[in-house]
Amino acid sequence: MRIGAHVDPGDPLAEAAARNAEAVQFFLSDPQGWKAPAPRADADALRSSDVAVYIHAPYIVNVATLNNRIRIPSRKLLLTHARAAAEIGARGLIVHGGHVGDGDDLAVGVDNWRKTFAYAEKEGGLPLPVLIENTAGGERAMARRFDDLARLWDAIGEFGAGFCLDTCHAHAGGEELLGIVDRVKAITGRIDLIHANDSKDPFDSGRDRHDNFGNGKIDPDLVVAVIRAAGAPVIVETPGGAQGQAADIALLRDRAGS
Ligand SMILES: [Zn+2]
Repeated sequence: MRIGAHVDPGDPLAEAAARNAEAVQFFLSDPQGWKAPAPRADADALRSSDVAVYIHAPYIVNVATLNNRIRIPSRKLLLTHARAAAEIGARGLIVHGGHVGDGDDLAVGVDNWRKTFAYAEKEGGLPLPVLIENTAGGERAMARRFDDLARLWDAIGEFGAGFCLDTCHAHAGGEELLGIVDRVKAITGRIDLIHANDSKDPFDSGRDRHDNFGNGKIDPDLVVAVIRAAGAPVIVETPGGAQGQAADIALLRDRAGS
């Protein structure tokens, strides 16, 4: 089982080494901005590295929204990131499920997701798997509650969408971690990546604040059970820099027996 961390994009392979990580995730551009990714000088090194590379799409991407001034640039930015991520040998592009506005119909958000994949196909296809991540907050989110996730998957499953399960987001979003892998797989048929994080906030709080294992509200053994059941690569997105994340990775490796 590969376990790694979300790291600063400056020198991801050095960051991986500093954490004894077998995988890294990073941003290719400002996560709050609309800029397309710039080419990377370390593209060859990333491509040929034994470290598995994952790219997280900017947070501002929201392909579900009914606001076309956000939706249209979002799907374009997602495709631009998919191409740039494939260029450096990434194994997946993680993107949040997004949300519709207050009073908007979630069904339109579902259809906007379907249109996003249809658009990508028309533009030549996605060069790597797009992994949709469950989110913690909001009442109009596409991938917070799993009954909504099921409606989303009915519309996009045919496009080969992947899934990234975040343990902090599930807990804070109101989905029990006990047995969650089976519940997700009954919907998506797959889990491509685990974001293993503790949560500073209580169950169903709707707040998204990650914590180091044992410091937050989630029993670390529950997270270990999730990653064992999923059998997918793991990324910790926890605080504390190299030291904090190295400790989190070591804890998971130790308890998961890998
Ligand atoms: Zn995450």
